Amino acid sequence: MTAPGLGELAACPECGAPAEITEMVSQASTDGPVRHARVWWVDGHWFLMPSDRLIRVAAPRTSVA
Ligand SMILES: [Zn+2]
Repeated sequence: MTAPGLGELAACPECGAPAEITEMVSQASTDGPVRHARVWWVDGHWFLMPSDRLIRVAAPRTSVA
């Protein structure tokens, strides 16, 4: 198992820019703890959002498929 989330990329729900998931945290809710991801964009803005609402994007890499 790799470190949870770290190094993964997600897309900003507002501007669509790719960003790095820097931290995974649990926050209590009425249904129990919910995993949230802190996502940081290079321009300085960040979100803390439920991890199941993340828009995952593939890490940029060249593929020959
Ligand atoms: Zn944004």
